[in-house]
Amino acid sequence: MLMTPGPTALPPSVREAAGEELLNPDVDPAFADRYDALKRKLGRIYGTDDEVVVLGGEGILGLEAAVASTVAPGDRVCCLSNGPYGDGFADLVEAYGGEATLVDANYDDPLPLDALERTLDGEDFDLVTMVHCETPTGTLNDLDAALDRVAAHDVLTVVDAVSSLGGTPVPTDRIDIAIGASQKCFSAPPGLAVCSVSDAAWERIEARDPDPLYTNLLPWHEAEQPYPYTHLSTLVVALEAALDLLLEAGLDTVYERHREAALVCRERGRNLGLEPFPDPERSSPTVTAFAVPGRATALQERLRVDHDVTLSTGLGGLEDDVLRVGHMGYNAEVEKVEQTMDALAAVLD
Ligand SMILES: *Cc1c(COP(=O)(O)O)cnc(C)c1O
Repeated sequence: MLMTPGPTALPPSVREAAGEELLNPDVDPAFADRYDALKRKLGRIYGTDDEVVVLGGEGILGLEAAVASTVAPGDRVCCLSNGPYGDGFADLVEAYGGEATLVDANYDDPLPLDALERTLDGEDFDLVTMVHCETPTGTLNDLDAALDRVAAHDVLTVVDAVSSLGGTPVPTDRIDIAIGASQKCFSAPPGLAVCSVSDAAWERIEARDPDPLYTNLLPWHEAEQPYPYTHLSTLVVALEAALDLLLEAGLDTVYERHREAALVCRERGRNLGLEPFPDPERSSPTVTAFAVPGRATALQERLRVDHDVTLSTGLGGLEDDVLRVGHMGYNAEVEKVEQTMDALAAVLD
């Protein structure tokens, strides 16, 4: 049982789609139709009229492309963070020549919104970055509260919604670039990054005219063909099948499944003496990170070897302190969570 917070297990229809006859994305008109349909379906899941682009590369490519395309050398970027992915945005910004100001909190605290407001009041920024679900700590950040503080300032917003999009509502229409990935709540294979890009963001990207690198979003917008390079056609077809499942079930039903799975996971954890790493109020409906100081790798190994259940440990200094159950996408099922927690109970025993 693959119960990690991405990649998730694949539904049978997604595995079938991945086994379809290959379409040549450059010459087969059927591929162009599939790609169009995929973008429309993504728009429905994002809940936006903004253009959505699908990049051939895993989630990190989406984060890097957002930064590479919007940040010119010397640009000032405010990186709001309470976790490893939030911190990582500052590193990316610096790598592309921007000046990053990290406004951060401890990994088990909420986003530092007062500090954000003071920072934005103090100087002009071009961009603000933040993370919706900090997967390594199981924290779901209050994006609306953060975006409220940003609203009075003339800045673009870039949000990593990789492990929330498709599992819980994301306020995409308040975000200039919102990034998702195929292998998290969509339950498609890893390999595609998806970005919604607002008109304001396209204007900035066009003005900045980024270097002609794979990370440049502009060719995905301008090209006569909406994909400038040979697309990862097998993954595109598989992602479309995965989105069909979400849309057929209905997004409200899907979000409710995530909430229920998360509640059961935490309830069972509490009965085993395990508490979520962040305050339960801030725990994400897509992933639970249990605090197990100094025991995470040993527990992970026993679960895998003795029970054939695969979980993740922590990241960013929490490698042995946090054990993570992914209840996202196809795995947002109470029954699967019960089975996982049965195995964890046996191991703890
Ligand atoms: C998974 C994830 C990513 C992308 O990382 P991958 O290497 O594609 O798995 C980015 N941000 C967050 C918050 C994630 O959970």
